[in-house]
Amino acid sequence: MDALVGSELNVFKPGMRRQSDARTTERNVYEWAEMMILMGGRSCVVSKLTKLSDAEVRSMYQRLLGRPSPSGQQPTDIKWYLKSPLLRLHSGLLVTIYSQCAASLPPHAAFANAFYHYARATAATCDRQAWDEDPAFRNSEKDYVIPFSRGYFLTSYYTDALDRHGARLCELQMRRCKRCQAIFMTHVSEASCLCPNCE
Ligand SMILES: [Zn+2]
Repeated sequence: MDALVGSELNVFKPGMRRQSDARTTERNVYEWAEMMILMGGRSCVVSKLTKLSDAEVRSMYQRLLGRPSPSGQQPTDIKWYLKSPLLRLHSGLLVTIYSQCAASLPPHAAFANAFYHYARATAATCDRQAWDEDPAFRNSEKDYVIPFSRGYFLTSYYTDALDRHGARLCELQMRRCKRCQAIFMTHVSEASCLCPNCE
């Protein structure tokens, strides 16, 4: 186990995009846990996703980052994702990537993989000083527009499912902009058909 934890980390760095789905699925939970910690995943979320014990993830966090995992409440506020035009666009992007990953990967791997690709795709929004080799792995959770915990809450919460009366179960809804085709997040009560950039 230690060998995997210690030496396999490089596989996540530059090569990940080119790896096949089979390789991605084979990665064990320890490798996924390390990857998530390096993307700002707090121990409680990583432990929940990987089913590893909180103590085990906390010690992994301390070893990898040289500081204890922050504790504190997990996000529950769905309005946060609508607070700015950038957050609306990033929320739409993350949920879109996640839904593709969730179709082919187990839950813990689906979110880790989606967040990895989200972070790489949005590298331009963070200061170049915030990462070394791979923009998915940044210095602090503050270096992501949507940090790991917020992203995890969003993808767990979001659904397009309807109840038996045909009403949406989720108060957030992704829409496609009528003008530029960008996908963005809205509240179900909002009527706009234009993204924040086109409004
Ligand atoms: Zn638009």
